[in-house]
Amino acid sequence: MKQTDVVIIGGGLTGLTVATYVARAGLQAAVFEKAASIGGRAATQDHQGYSLNRGGHALYPGGAATRVLRELAISVPAGSPRNVQALLQG
Ligand SMILES: Cc1cc2nc3c(=O)[nH]c(=O)nc-3n(C[C@H](O)[C@H](O)[C@H](O)COP(=O)(O)OP(=O)(O)OC[C@H]3O[C@@H](n4cnc5c(N)ncnc54)[C@H](O)[C@@H]3O)c2cc1C
Repeated sequence: MKQTDVVIIGGGLTGLTVATYVARAGLQAAVFEKAASIGGRAATQDHQGYSLNRGGHALYPGGAATRVLRELAISVPAGSPRNVQALLQG
């Protein structure tokens, strides 16, 4: 185990955002994520050729997430998906 300044449990949007702030403050952060991949509820899952949202599907202009992204100088290409469908029973 290496030593680190900040330990973050969970690699969802919150954990990754905190890690970004910590790193930009010049400190080291270690993110521990129990799932196989990071992103938490914001991750996209592939299922039989479809990309499925498990949570977040929209970035609201003027919302908290937008304010944080602006503060971190992270630009997000805007746009709406062209083909949106719901998957019934699985
Ligand atoms: C149906 C739905 C629709 C939504 N739509 C929107 C939307 O349109 N726009 C929007 O901005 N937001 C939306 N949200 C909210 C947004 O998805 C969440 O606010 C955000 O993704 C939460 O991030 P989080 O990091 O706090 O939690 P999570 O995404 O839940 O991440 C937590 C992470 O911690 C990990 N973890 C948990 N316990 C442990 C442990 N003991 N050890 C290690 N790792 C652990 C988990 O595996 C997970 O990866 C939606 C949410 C839902 C459920």
